Amino acid sequence: MDFSGKRVVVTGAGKGIGRATALMLARRGAHVVALTRSAADLETLSAETGAQAIVVDLADAEATRAAARAALPADFLVNCAGATELESFLDVSVENFDLLHAVNTRAPMIVAQEYARDMVGSGRTGAIVNVSSCASFVGIPDHAAYCASKAGLDGLTRVMAKELGPHGIRVNGLHPTVTLTPMAVKAWSDPDKAAGMLARIPLGRFAEPDDIAEVILFLLSDAAAMVHGLSMPVDGGYMIA
Ligand code: NDP
Repeated sequence: MDFSGKRVVVTGAGKGIGRATALMLARRGAHVVALTRSAADLETLSAETGAQAIVVDLADAEATRAAARAALPADFLVNCAGATELESFLDVSVENFDLLHAVNTRAPMIVAQEYARDMVGSGRTGAIVNVSSCASFVGIPDHAAYCASKAGLDGLTRVMAKELGPHGIRVNGLHPTVTLTPMAVKAWSDPDKAAGMLARIPLGRFAEPDDIAEVILFLLSDAAAMVHGLSMPVDGGYMIA
């Protein structure tokens, strides 16, 4: 897959899956525009790849819209930034519920809205990948706000696919299982919990960030020209009933 000459906006490109995606895109010729929170991550990414760096807190709606506009024009968009807080349902706080919805659901909406308005206005075609999670399909203990925020993102993906498809903008959701990133360290460091999750993955391992990045690039590329509105697990078989 060759992305030469393509500009790709990647949110959450500082760490984990977003960073792996940005690095892979850059290796395959793309110019990456990276939106994320920690300036130090963006400095090293820019030094490595020449990526354009935009520091933003995606929990802030106005700042997110301004950052999205500054990132344009672009050919493709990867909404990858995400956050989690571990709380049992009985303990979920309104603050964390709102925070996870702001970062995991509202920010992808705002960034995609700005991207799509620009594409539709200029008559160009493109593709969006919204990075969701298996947690949008499965109730995972201590992940109530996270599961709800990702299920909300899936609803958004489906409507975006219906409305943006006629404009030549493909929209797909991608659903990783546990992927070995800083987020996984936060959510799955407990060996008992990790073992229970691993036992449900027929391929017998957690994902590496590059496993997910490869599929993101596929969904952006012309190889996926008829793939639209999909909720695609990348999970080693975790979702098999
Ligand atoms: P990481 O925590 O490793 O990286 C997340 C990236 O998003 C970081 O660069 C982080 O920046 C950025 N980010 C988080 N919150 C904000 C914010 N408020 N404003 C701006 N940037 C922010 O996560 P992963 O790479 O693991 O996750 C990537 C995506 O994949 C997420 O949407 C996640 O929900 C999803 N996912 C991950 C799984 C996993 O097991 N890892 C499983 C299923 C889905 P900073 O570090 O500066 O906060």
